[in-house]
Amino acid sequence: MKIKADLHTHTTFSHGKNSIEEMVNRARQLGLQEIVISDHGRSHPLYGVKPYNFRVMREEIDRLNEKYSDIQIYLSVESNITGKDGTIDIGEEERQYCDWIYAGYHWVYIPHRFSDFFTFKLRNYLTKVLPFLKAGSRRANTQTYLKMMDRYDLKMITHPGDKCPIDVEAVAKKAAEKHVILEINPRHHHLNVEELKRAAKYGGTFAINSDAHSTDRVADVAEGIAWAAASGIPQEQIINLAQDEM
Ligand SMILES: [Zn+2]
Ligand SMILES: [Zn+2]
Repeated sequence: MKIKADLHTHTTFSHGKNSIEEMVNRARQLGLQEIVISDHGRSHPLYGVKPYNFRVMREEIDRLNEKYSDIQIYLSVESNITGKDGTIDIGEEERQYCDWIYAGYHWVYIPHRFSDFFTFKLRNYLTKVLPFLKAGSRRANTQTYLKMMDRYDLKMITHPGDKCPIDVEAVAKKAAEKHVILEINPRHHHLNVEELKRAAKYGGTFAINSDAHSTDRVADVAEGIAWAAASGIPQEQIINLAQDEM
């Protein structure tokens, strides 16, 4: 069982261990048809791609697309959700040089506004240790995700609900309307089997990705494929599965 495209990988431009070309060559070795380089958004204080590097990455990917005819390589960014109002950390460089934009929630980022530190970031931290906050947090995070999909033309939401509880059904319904892919990310445990069962019925699309930070993890998604199979989600809703593999 395998995927034909890995839509979520990291390189040394954020905190991955390998270069773009090394990741591409591993993907070619595995017979993938496509790979997407999607390093972390700029608001991560340590790992975020420096804005000036998007042009450098674009040039490198254009060069590799010329060099290798057996694989298609795309540039994206795993932007951070930095504001309660659905703000993500993209600027002119991301818009200009990326083929498309992803968004995901992470622990470490510089909040969009000062108030977002309390109303969004700190709340999600506290929700992890104070379970009674979960219901309110879920309601607020769901609104954030819905607003984000209205405000931006997103290709995919990475590991939806990881580190920030959401109403999976409301998010899946909106994602289907807006043609936003929801990710099945075994590295981050979302979407999981239970979430997939609830999300699939809205008819949207899903992708199983490795989120590899090194060449040895490219297309390493066996667990994600097992979750998809266990959830009973129709095969045609998973856009990057190799034919007849489930
Ligand atoms: Zn992520
Ligand atoms: Zn990632």
